[in-house]
Amino acid sequence: MRGRHPRLFSGSIKSVEGRPRDGDVVDVRANTGEWLARGVINQQAQIAVRLLTWDESEDIDDDFWRRRVKQAVERRARDPLLADTSARRLIFGESDGLPGVIVDDYAGYLVAQISTLAASRAKQILVESLAALLSPRCILERSDDERLKHERVAAARGVLFGDPPAGPVDVFENGMRFKVDVQAGQKTGFYLDQRENRARVARYCDGADVLNMFAYTGAFAVCAAARGARSVVNVDSSQEALRMAEVNMALQPAPACAVTYQVADAFEYLRACRAQGMQFDVVILDPPKFAHAPSQIDRAARAYKDLNRVGFGLVRPGGILATFSCSGVIDAALFQKIIFSAALESARDAQVIERLTQASDHPVLLSFPESEYLKGLVCRVL
Ligand code: SAH
Repeated sequence: MRGRHPRLFSGSIKSVEGRPRDGDVVDVRANTGEWLARGVINQQAQIAVRLLTWDESEDIDDDFWRRRVKQAVERRARDPLLADTSARRLIFGESDGLPGVIVDDYAGYLVAQISTLAASRAKQILVESLAALLSPRCILERSDDERLKHERVAAARGVLFGDPPAGPVDVFENGMRFKVDVQAGQKTGFYLDQRENRARVARYCDGADVLNMFAYTGAFAVCAAARGARSVVNVDSSQEALRMAEVNMALQPAPACAVTYQVADAFEYLRACRAQGMQFDVVILDPPKFAHAPSQIDRAARAYKDLNRVGFGLVRPGGILATFSCSGVIDAALFQKIIFSAALESARDAQVIERLTQASDHPVLLSFPESEYLKGLVCRVL
């Protein structure tokens, strides 16, 4: 508690005084009676209190939510890494002092994901604050996160403010154009957390044959082509995603790059590449989250290892494997061990030349290390 961790688990509560209803603001005290923090209680959930302030004089009223939203938005406005980008995460949950609130901005079309009871109770004031601060074209809600179930909050989708876009939204990221389907795309429409990594990985792609696994809407491919890739193969299990990848590639100023799209299961596709003796200069592996809970770590570790073992085998000597995990429960040290076993099993030596993490609009709150979830290794494969 004194470490300002924003989650209080039910198991660490000795007693509940009064009869707070779920969604009420409560004070948390030590056994000695000393005031520690204030938050919102939800006794249906394992995380029984979402802590919101460690300042006894700070009330959790409308002004509190307004203030937190404003601070989060101002941080992004001042972030130099977001200068050439119109698609960004404005609010990243606990990291911005707003547990259960995700808000992404796609050039004025905002997409919100609410995943806690505390946040869902504050929805109206959150929407009002965003509308007043940013005058967005619309605010859409896409709260269908798995975590809602644990909080016993119903999934919700719809328009909270303004008018939804008629089709995909035009955005730019690091100066490059993309179309984002904010209504039907995965998550809120785009994987904003990989923004900086796309630019970094692209630097290895000049003249390269690139295999872009888990391509989604082709954002890594677009960056690679812009950096002079000779060819890019995009692989994803989602046909809609790859259709959008084609649209995105066509938006770029004439990339002289041979781009192909393969709807396939990644594991099967990689094995087929191996069987055919295909080789690439750069292989990008950006799979979905394999582990959602600590109980899934072992199984996920095996899946990451399998994927990367085959991935290593497809890289030409001296080439690059850029490999990612967005499973928060697998930390950077474990991920590196998994990648090491994969290299060993494929009998390749490799050097780590860059360590990557989530973009700056997904900041890691030091008091909440769980907010660090994305890690990537750029390996030079010998
Ligand atoms: N690299 C992308 C984000 C990848 S998200 C970007 O920069 O935008 C993970 C992607 O993996 C999703 O597009 C999802 O459709 C795809 N996917 C999930 N399981 C898959 C599988 N078994 N085989 C191939 N693709 C898969």
